[in-house]
Amino acid sequence: MSRIAYERKAKLLTLGDSTVGKTCLLLRFSEDEFDFNLPPTVGIDLRIRTLRINGERVRIQVWDTAGQERFRKITSSYYRGAQGILLTFSVTDRKSFDNIHSWTEDINKCSDNNISTILVGNKIDLEDRVVSKKEGQEVATQYGMTYIETSAKTGEGVEQAFLTLTKLILEKN
Ligand code: GDP
Ligand code: MG
Repeated sequence: MSRIAYERKAKLLTLGDSTVGKTCLLLRFSEDEFDFNLPPTVGIDLRIRTLRINGERVRIQVWDTAGQERFRKITSSYYRGAQGILLTFSVTDRKSFDNIHSWTEDINKCSDNNISTILVGNKIDLEDRVVSKKEGQEVATQYGMTYIETSAKTGEGVEQAFLTLTKLILEKN
């Protein structure tokens, strides 16, 4: 007779400016795919992946914005029940990096105080980087976040980003 495995859960959200690669990161994490032709405002509502972390099965549920971030119209219901946020900018887009400050204000206003957030600098595969790793790390430190650089295109750092965030949540709960 098989035992029913105890499963832990983590509810994560993507957040950050439009076109920084949030949907592609989630697609890479959940399907190990990259789609260059993703229409700009498309989001994938929700993806679930179960991973074994420190010997436990963890059901990681990730919600994605579907274009409303373009108008900074993220409603507080998006944050409901969330335990972790992948706050993302593109290392090739200075404005998306500058906007991290106002995204953290949104997070403070709308989410549970106990929420874990990591800062993700995406698109490191591109030549035209304008935000250095040092700058990313400095802003992350300022807000008490871990900083991870990724490429949804090559997959570099992607699993590490989702895993780091999930582990932070598991430690708290
Ligand atoms: P979102 O609006 O934040 O969800 O951004 P998307 O995931 O829709 O990606 C926006 C654009 O950036 C698309 O054209 C993607 O193909 C491209 N993109 C996303 N991530 C990467 C990456 O890591 N490297 C490169 N070169 N392009 C990326
Ligand atoms: Mg998207």
